[in-house]
Amino acid sequence: MNALTISAHGTLDRLEYRDDLPMPELRASTDVRVRVRAAALNHLDLFVVAGLPNVAITPPWILGADACGVVDAVGDPSSPVAIGDYVVINPGISDRTCEYCRDGEQPLCPRFGILGEHRPGTFAGFVVVPAANVRAIPATIPIEQAAAFTLSTLTAWRMVVSRARVQAGESVLIWGIGGGVALAALQICKLLGARTWVVSSREDKLRRAADLGADELLDRTKVDVARTIRDRTAKRGVDVVIDDVGQATWAQSLGALGRRGRLVTCGGTSGPMVETDVRRLFWNQWSIYGSTMGNDAEFDAVVSELRAGRLTPIVDSVHRLADGRAAFERLQRGEQFGKVVVTM
Ligand SMILES: [Zn+2]
Repeated sequence: MNALTISAHGTLDRLEYRDDLPMPELRASTDVRVRVRAAALNHLDLFVVAGLPNVAITPPWILGADACGVVDAVGDPSSPVAIGDYVVINPGISDRTCEYCRDGEQPLCPRFGILGEHRPGTFAGFVVVPAANVRAIPATIPIEQAAAFTLSTLTAWRMVVSRARVQAGESVLIWGIGGGVALAALQICKLLGARTWVVSSREDKLRRAADLGADELLDRTKVDVARTIRDRTAKRGVDVVIDDVGQATWAQSLGALGRRGRLVTCGGTSGPMVETDVRRLFWNQWSIYGSTMGNDAEFDAVVSELRAGRLTPIVDSVHRLADGRAAFERLQRGEQFGKVVVTM
């Protein structure tokens, strides 16, 4: 089997395309094997290459969380999916037995793991996952879009819909437009009828976000984001901030947040430590939400939006798996607008 792997942590020089790996076998009757047709990159993949604390890899380690493909083997014939089904994969794997899983909140599972980080990933000819982690989709959805869909859209859905509970007419600030989660959050906010403020350091990305319906465009290299929002809203601020940048944007996120505002974070790509003035937190009655991945109900919800054509991920570029290094370099340089995809 072919795959994009690493055998040690480090720079992108560690990436190694192999074509001599064994075919993965089902480990449980609840598993299915998917012949991968396309897979998409996430920032997580860059973190795995560099090395994450408390995450050990077994060489040769197969990278990749997102994918779509065709079911090739099923452990249990009564499985909800059948051989030949075209599916998307939810990369979040849980034990399905703990109190949080039983409560339908799989991302809180103490044994939660993500494909490509805790289990062999999707940048490969085949991947084995629990049947509960796949959903069949119509054959009319292009493989590049299907591969690009799940992790970003699921993450954004939980942030915008489940955590912040964004309502029609509310205003939402979204950092780093061009990234997969930010773009999915923009699309979901538009579906909900919210007003969106998007931030980038690049004019071309802001123009493309405007084409997707973003209402207010902020170039963070030219304006103070929080002050500009205060000025343009008569000091009111926004209702919700979607922040996956962390350290570099936290103060600005809070500066832009209005009374009873909600800040949702799903990551800290610029650094983990942030500072909050507790007096402003209680006085303004803010809520700060953490969010990660999505549960089964949220997976069903986003897949139903995909099937209905209401949410279509933005694909930046498509590369061959053997040229996976070029795909990683594009993501690392932050050049992408939408998802970087590899095809098998
Ligand atoms: Zn669990």
